[in-house]
Amino acid sequence: MGLSDPPPEAVRRIGVFGGTFDPIHRGHIEIARFALGEAKLDLVLMIPAGQPWLREDQPIASPEQRLRMTELAVASEDGLEVSDVDVVREGETYSIDTLNDLRAEYGPSTEFVLILGADSALQTDRWNRADELSSMCKIFVIGRPGEDWQAELPESHPAHDATFIEGPMLDISATELRRQLAAGEDVSDSVSSAVERYIRQNRLYGVKKEGEMVQTASGSDRLLERAKELGALQFGDFTLSSGQKSTYYFDGRQLSLDPEGSSIISQLFLEKILDAGCEAVGGPTVAAVPIVGALMLRAWHEEEAITGFFVRPEAKGHGMGRQVEGNVKPGMKVAVFDDTVSTGGSLLEAIDAVQAFGCEVALVLCVLDRHQGGSDEVKRRGLSFVSFWEATPEGEVKVTQPE
Ligand code: ATP
Repeated sequence: MGLSDPPPEAVRRIGVFGGTFDPIHRGHIEIARFALGEAKLDLVLMIPAGQPWLREDQPIASPEQRLRMTELAVASEDGLEVSDVDVVREGETYSIDTLNDLRAEYGPSTEFVLILGADSALQTDRWNRADELSSMCKIFVIGRPGEDWQAELPESHPAHDATFIEGPMLDISATELRRQLAAGEDVSDSVSSAVERYIRQNRLYGVKKEGEMVQTASGSDRLLERAKELGALQFGDFTLSSGQKSTYYFDGRQLSLDPEGSSIISQLFLEKILDAGCEAVGGPTVAAVPIVGALMLRAWHEEEAITGFFVRPEAKGHGMGRQVEGNVKPGMKVAVFDDTVSTGGSLLEAIDAVQAFGCEVALVLCVLDRHQGGSDEVKRRGLSFVSFWEATPEGEVKVTQPE
């Protein structure tokens, strides 16, 4: 029976496609899809190697990270599934063990078709127990740019009887992709957006942090620019709710409820909070609520163990009657923030409340320090204070320079 003939009833034909997948790319997905149709497979199992042994360099991403990227890459692909057999098995990854494990899992009536790129197929004579391969599976080889498939392999070669089909011939390799990622080049044609996001969130392959280009040295600058774009920061003659006159007006909510504003604020804050060794972060309602939400999401993606809270103006009259809401516990080292600090009223009340709750306030933060006494009082109490912008005596708003 040739590879393109359908298998008898009840026999499942499963494609076995292993790889380092460091990271998984469009070349992999396209050949898996191609093999699915061309070799009439019921399904293709994408199988990241736990410990590939034939490579000169060990993978950069961990087996679990490569498994996760593979899951993300095939999530919306019909007929492609992920198997963790090679990640959970201890020791070096040999395809013969993969096939044995799959045989145990899928039973005797399943036919396995090993899918290999031309470069890998040519190397099968170096594989462990390669002589057993022919009794375990058929081999389906797909062409790869730059690889010359020699149909005349010696009879003793494990890929001698393989079916070869040129296939999509995409010039993509994980090695080149890793170089492009480290160089900050656009890889959107070669990896799925979900995989690219995962790589950035986990800072794999030397990529900069998510959005780092706009959010580190120039993060506060970009935030200021964004506030002006949104109209969250305006200059003119304003009368504030306190009755005071001001040459500028800042609406922190407009900025913290904007996707880019929220992303930059959470990144700037999180770096400082982690540097100060805080275990929890929060501030007075309402300003703190969207920012705590953004901070928790970022902390989750960056795998930082930190928790959030907010402080009500006064203890609730019902329920547990808590003024400090969230997972924060007495004894924790915390950061307290507000979006704007003027005389410091709500911020100082929040600081008092968390201290009364039994927490140590290790850092106080804000986006804008209006220099109207609040920050001086915080410092007078011996607390570290960070602002990202400040009002100047001339009534302008500028990025705070590091002291
Ligand atoms: P690296 O550059 O790190 O060696 P890679 O891009 O070759 O990685 P692997 O995970 O090592 O990716 O490859 C898994 C399997 O996919 C191998 O059989 C390989 O031959 C095949 N393969 C990878 N990319 C292509 C491609 N563009 N065309 C055909 N086959 C490919």
